[in-house]
Amino acid sequence: MLDQITGAEKYYFSALGEGRFLIQSCEDCDKHVFYPRQLCPHCHSLNLSWIEPAGGATVYSTSVVRRKGEDGGDYNVAIVELDEGVRMMTCVEDISPTDVHIGMRVRATVSKGEQGNRVVFRTEERDQ
Ligand SMILES: [Zn+2]
Repeated sequence: MLDQITGAEKYYFSALGEGRFLIQSCEDCDKHVFYPRQLCPHCHSLNLSWIEPAGGATVYSTSVVRRKGEDGGDYNVAIVELDEGVRMMTCVEDISPTDVHIGMRVRATVSKGEQGNRVVFRTEERDQ
């Protein structure tokens, strides 16, 4: 897959392959940027740098994709908003897909899979 992508996207997936989840931060307008890109979508600056987000996020929308049990069962697809202010499509994977709800606090983790690493989210510990 890395052969077919370039630039910021390639850098993102290279880091992810090493187990690191990175987003971009604009040095001109101080806003955070995700999905990876060359130009800041807010001010069109080229001065984007990479940062490791704190990992905390809030579920913005959630849905359940139905799938036969023999194919792995139902799974969650969610859009979460990182505390840095950017949204990403992902899944909340440590609870039943129907128990994920809007406003729930979740935390990013890099999940190693057969098709490469991906960023997924787990519910935050209540007693933190
Ligand atoms: Zn900017």
